[in-house]
Amino acid sequence: MVDNFGRKINYLRLSVTDRCNLRCSYCMPAHGIKKLDHCDILSYEQLHRVATAAVGIGVEKIRITGGEPLVRKGIVDFLAELKRIPGLKKLVLTTNGVFLEEMAEGLRRAGVESINMSLDSLRPEVFARITRGGDLQRVLAGLAAAERAGFEYLKINMVVMRGINDDELFDFAALTLDKPINVRFIEYMPTLRDKNWESLMVPGDELLSRLSGRYDLQQVSPEALDGPARYYQVPGAAGKIGFITPISGHFCQKCNRLRVTSSGMLKSCLFDEGGVSLRPCLERGTDADLLELLRQVEGRKQYKHTLVDSVSDTYNMSQIGG
Ligand code: SAM
Ligand code: SF4
Repeated sequence: MVDNFGRKINYLRLSVTDRCNLRCSYCMPAHGIKKLDHCDILSYEQLHRVATAAVGIGVEKIRITGGEPLVRKGIVDFLAELKRIPGLKKLVLTTNGVFLEEMAEGLRRAGVESINMSLDSLRPEVFARITRGGDLQRVLAGLAAAERAGFEYLKINMVVMRGINDDELFDFAALTLDKPINVRFIEYMPTLRDKNWESLMVPGDELLSRLSGRYDLQQVSPEALDGPARYYQVPGAAGKIGFITPISGHFCQKCNRLRVTSSGMLKSCLFDEGGVSLRPCLERGTDADLLELLRQVEGRKQYKHTLVDSVSDTYNMSQIGG
């Protein structure tokens, strides 16, 4: 599947729930979140059908996300089913890590190859403030369990916020020195339309230059099926340091993905305000109709996202799937 701008679309992000056991300040407002009714969330059977169709038109990698995917009942069995789809090369998951201590082994056995874990601070009180009540120890225990379970890759995603956690840059970079963990610094995106977002956002180039003051970072080439992160490595380090720059970097030219939200909206971009509902097709259409819909949405992919310029309402990252 190649889009109108020559990008090979081979990556699908499937959000399996809008629910979450944390309330990260950059992702959800403190109050007033409208949860979807259970009947408005795609069933596992429907999600499986979408995944199979997507693989049928060239998707090679599927990321399961949310909300928090590990809060949905039956997720491990569902993942094991997805893994059996012929032609799917990589099944990966993004999680906040709260349930990883109990679930890491089962996820690995189900065939999940790698895990991206969100972790924005290594200080308990800062972590609790960002996540509105999260327990850092629990998440670190989850990370340790994931290390033991032997995933191909473990990636830590840190959303960097000036004056909140940007002083922990070096502590996070140091996590890559001895262990094969990739740490990715993500620019804060104004999805909640907060007035002070520009003062919070630390551009990727600034992060790189701050880190380069201490380390002789070497750029490394991305691996096949990698997303839009730019990767560097401290010479001799076991892991890599990545920068994801949706605001300063406009990584759209490398975008290789489609998304399905937990309510079944197929989106060509994280910031695609419309999208196409898969529901009618999943309820009444054939597999051929589903393939046609996927192709149509892929054809709508824009060259560049418009998050900063658009005047839209807030984006609900926990529903769209981050
Ligand atoms: N609950 C899981 C987790 O936190 O990893 C998966 C869903 S979460 C919506 C997916 C990703 O979106 C996380 O890595 C999170 O850091 C990122 N994200 C959410 N809101 C963001 C924002 N405003 N700016 C940058 N990244 C954001
Ligand atoms: Fe939940 Fe993930 Fe959003 Fe944090 S970033 S509130 S863990 S969905």
